[in-house]
Amino acid sequence: MSAWQDDATRDLMGLGGRLALLVRGEGSAVWDADGNRYLDFLGGIAVNSLGHAHPTFVNAVSQQAAVLSHVSNYFATPQQLELAATLKRLAGTGEAGRVFFANSGTEANETAVKLARLHGNKVGKKGLVSLNHAFHGRSMGALSLTPKPLYQDAFRPLLPDVTYIDNTLEALDELDWSDVAAIFIEPIQGEAGVVEHPAGFLRRARELATENNALLIVDEVQTGMGRTGDWFAFQREGIVPDAMTLAKGIAGGFPLGALVTFGEASELFYPGTHNSTFGGNPLATAVGLAVVAEVENNDLLANVVTRGEQLRAAVTDLPLVTGTSGKGLLIGIHLDGPHAGAVREAAHRRGLIVNAPTDDIIRIAPAYTIGDAEVEEFTRLFAAALADVNGTASEENNA
Ligand code: PLP
Repeated sequence: MSAWQDDATRDLMGLGGRLALLVRGEGSAVWDADGNRYLDFLGGIAVNSLGHAHPTFVNAVSQQAAVLSHVSNYFATPQQLELAATLKRLAGTGEAGRVFFANSGTEANETAVKLARLHGNKVGKKGLVSLNHAFHGRSMGALSLTPKPLYQDAFRPLLPDVTYIDNTLEALDELDWSDVAAIFIEPIQGEAGVVEHPAGFLRRARELATENNALLIVDEVQTGMGRTGDWFAFQREGIVPDAMTLAKGIAGGFPLGALVTFGEASELFYPGTHNSTFGGNPLATAVGLAVVAEVENNDLLANVVTRGEQLRAAVTDLPLVTGTSGKGLLIGIHLDGPHAGAVREAAHRRGLIVNAPTDDIIRIAPAYTIGDAEVEEFTRLFAAALADVNGTASEENNA
């Protein structure tokens, strides 16, 4: 083990973070302390929408830091107000929308759980519903909606009255909605391996939630802020949720999260029921505004769609690949067996960062700014990594 790994093992909680010691980034590349360059197609797990050290990001951080960076939630700031209005415009909430700023996806979802409780207490319902294979975060409320034994079992008891259902139309129809205060849905399940729901799933969830006086809360932490080629993935489904949660790409790498409410759900919180010291401070919201402006001014959503199609086409016929899932630049590359860990490691050795959310799926979530050069480099490195693993797999088969 190298010295930094010893330090990490001794000083950091034993929860991961040992793949490399990264010291610098630029565009879609990062460098480790030994000067090795990696093409970063994970983007900080769907966060660095403008890539690394983008001038717009750097200017926003440095200019705002030089003026006013933090004031607490006793005060409003122009940056916070403007980003709230911008999110309402992009989400199409109309006048009735409201925004609460948090610092992470988990915190945004924790806020949404409290929103669901406020609604449930108003209408006399206590149940929460989420989907099998969902990921909403690691704090106790968000974790209660994240049904994975490794994540949940050591932390029981969790929130009561939570039901997990499959992502099928039948499961929605068969659910007993009588005690459901809210249903939480990721439009695409990123951590589950970029899993898309069957056609009409969100629409049916919307209909049933409305009929049964339950909130539909979409978790757009991973899919939101342009990642799928629309500002928010729910917009492609032709529905309007009661609330959505955001984080990850919202400020391109600066920590920021948000809960955005639509319609009557905007009236549920009242003074004293929730808050956050850092949430929505002028520094984070200035960066959020700069990222949105960069995406809008350069029509980066169109690039997300085009590059996504290019990448899908480029990997489809490679060895071990059986297909792809996802939209825009949130892509799952499906392999013909449990090779994802080996492919991720082979890619890393060749200077390419991807991840393996499941045994047989590789996830990529590169910057919205990628062009032909990055697509070509990715395709070359990924094909080489697959060939490394394929060689080993066929040797094993022949043995
Ligand atoms: N919700 C979704 C859909 C996510 O993908 C994640 C993180 O991967 C979270 C919530 C948690 O966000 P954070 O890690 O910022 O707390």
